Amino acid sequence: MRNDAQGVTIEVEGKADRLASFRDRLPDEKPPHSSIYSLEAVQLELAGYESFTIISSQPSAISHQPSAIILPDIATCPDCLDELVNPADRRYHYPFINCTHCGPRFSIITALPYDRPNTTMAGFQMCDACRAEYDNPADRRFHAQPIACHDCGPQLELWNPTGEVLNIRHDALLAAAEAIRSGEIAAVKGLGGFHLMVDARNDDAVCRLRRLKRREEKPFALMYPSLAAVENDCSVDHVERNLLLSPASPIILLPRHPKPLSHSGTQELWNSGTHALMHSCTRALSPSLAPGNPYLGVMLPYTPLHHLLMMELGFPVVATSGNLSEEPICTDERDALERLAGVADLFLVHNRPIVRHVDDSIVRIMMGREMLLRRARGYAPLPVVLKQPMPPLLAVGGHLKNTIAVASSDKVFVSQHIGDLETAAAYDAFNSTTSDLQRMYAVQPKLLACDRHPDYLSTQFAQESGLPVVFVQHHLAHILACMAENELTGEVLGVAWDGTGYGDDGTVWGGEFLAVNLPTDGGAVEHRRVAHLRTFPLPGGDQAAREPRRSAIGLLYEQFSDDAFKMTDLPPIRAFNSHELPIIAAALEKRLNCPITSSAGRLFDAVASLLDLRQFNRYEGQAAMELEFLAMQSEEEAAYHFNLPAAHYPKDSPTNESLVLDFRPAICDIIDDLKSGVSGPTIARRFHNTLVKMIVEVARLMSIPAVILSGGCFQNRLLLESAVHGLRTAIFRPYWHQRIPPNDGGIALGQVVYASRIAR
Ligand code: ZN
Ligand code: ZN
Ligand code: FE
Repeated sequence: MRNDAQGVTIEVEGKADRLASFRDRLPDEKPPHSSIYSLEAVQLELAGYESFTIISSQPSAISHQPSAIILPDIATCPDCLDELVNPADRRYHYPFINCTHCGPRFSIITALPYDRPNTTMAGFQMCDACRAEYDNPADRRFHAQPIACHDCGPQLELWNPTGEVLNIRHDALLAAAEAIRSGEIAAVKGLGGFHLMVDARNDDAVCRLRRLKRREEKPFALMYPSLAAVENDCSVDHVERNLLLSPASPIILLPRHPKPLSHSGTQELWNSGTHALMHSCTRALSPSLAPGNPYLGVMLPYTPLHHLLMMELGFPVVATSGNLSEEPICTDERDALERLAGVADLFLVHNRPIVRHVDDSIVRIMMGREMLLRRARGYAPLPVVLKQPMPPLLAVGGHLKNTIAVASSDKVFVSQHIGDLETAAAYDAFNSTTSDLQRMYAVQPKLLACDRHPDYLSTQFAQESGLPVVFVQHHLAHILACMAENELTGEVLGVAWDGTGYGDDGTVWGGEFLAVNLPTDGGAVEHRRVAHLRTFPLPGGDQAAREPRRSAIGLLYEQFSDDAFKMTDLPPIRAFNSHELPIIAAALEKRLNCPITSSAGRLFDAVASLLDLRQFNRYEGQAAMELEFLAMQSEEEAAYHFNLPAAHYPKDSPTNESLVLDFRPAICDIIDDLKSGVSGPTIARRFHNTLVKMIVEVARLMSIPAVILSGGCFQNRLLLESAVHGLRTAIFRPYWHQRIPPNDGGIALGQVVYASRIAR
């Protein structure tokens, strides 16, 4: 047997029936966390093997390109956890314990094949005891590349903000725990980067972290000491429970209990479940963790270091990315000292280098299944396998929530989440991830795929590469990404709803219905915009994404013209003061800096503004999220009116003209409801019902059985689930995202699919 960059090669000899049974049993009896992406068998000459041997990896004969799968980082397994807390074990309290079933992978690999010299463990010389385990095929740590122990492996240190060592080893961990307990902010070097941690029950500490990190209201993720402690604050169903405890161990958005129980500050809680709680001093969670949000982003410890720290603390902590605002996460301790200066009071660090940043993944359960909203640790860089072989390609993604992708033969490797390309640091991370993935998989692209938006940094990067570039329309990329992960080809109706994307006509799209054909024979993608939401102007352009009142006033102006400014009983008009209103009015009249949009995301913003739910977003998508949460409080089934003018739209219309979904009647209905005092939740729910009805109506007109739901708007669980139910009732086959995000984190995959059909 040999394990190299092409994958695993096994040579077996024996009778034909036994060889067949060996092959049959392989998929079921393969090691945990291994995946078989393809299995090829060939007849060889008899070699006369007498025993089972494993031949050490050879730096592969260079003619092949590495195609082996790099595994994601895997959460600590139950066996390692048992040893971690067993005083008799030689790795008792060792914060870097791991085995072949768990531990770091993607975050420590420097090259393929995955062997110790090609990891950041290369600098640690194995002790005799570790070496014996590593060499013993019967041991759980046989060829566990990051194998280590107290004697030979990485160690902890606690630093003050000037980088002075305060404590080492377990004392460092205890001192860091003490600091967190007393309300300080600790920067903790974990698996794929730093976290900033504070006591989640200490409101002063949480608010101080918000202020220093310049993060106003965006929810903070929490790390809990145990499942029992999570269940104390949130309702957790069996899907969510399994996912919390899974090898991927992502952050899961969990619904909070309406009236939270409080928290124990003692150790008993995580040991013995909830009854200890009643007897101990109790403290509720800080109200500043996720203001106005009925969900909490929750994860469990996923490295031995986190387990030890959380056992010591026994209460939930904020575990937010160690960065400022929207910058990429810090991975290096010296860099962290600089970038987190003035934020962290202490730095709990270690000397196992992190090769690449890997953020915590974020999952929301939709239709009883996981949907990744941010794809990184535990998932990246597992490939999406396509049916058609592809030439070497690089896709550079979009602008917000950027990821990139490289394609090699039939696999697409989508990078871990990089982030919004708004800062120099994020653009650096984009650059390094782009070269990193190309180098790891030895992909020399012949072609680059990028968005059509001329101002995206990713687009400019592609244009400056000197290679041929394929421009892929943003919403088409959303639909193709969703098709790829659902292994779909042929004809679909794509519903691509999001905040912004550069349209084929140069306007801002975002409420699109695309008829897409991805030919089963591998031919080029055909697509047509068959319908879209009615357009309206966005005064101030990009500023409108931050101020829902701007979407609302643009929409009202489009509908009521100058009369809109006289509707002073409406919240969006009142949200502008007497200086601002004439300026906005003039801008709208003269169409100055008022781009036209068909964006569903901006329509959500406009309705949130009409309900006076929110006039200013403190983070991307806040108003739309709050509108969803409001609607969730209602069971209302009615919908508002809308017009779909071409009621007898011929499917193969020669005119190529798209249908316009006119929501103006719905806006009139909403204003009437507001005047007659209908409750916010009812209005919000009726609005959601209206959108679902629009989707089903367009599906009926187009009568294409497969309907794809993609784009950031489908992170909205109420919208997604209602649309799926509505489409199924009307006998359509809806598809949505699971492993690849519906937001712009999926754009790179869609770009690859499009470009691969051109480059063949
Ligand atoms: Zn393990
Ligand atoms: Zn050792
Ligand atoms: Fe998008």
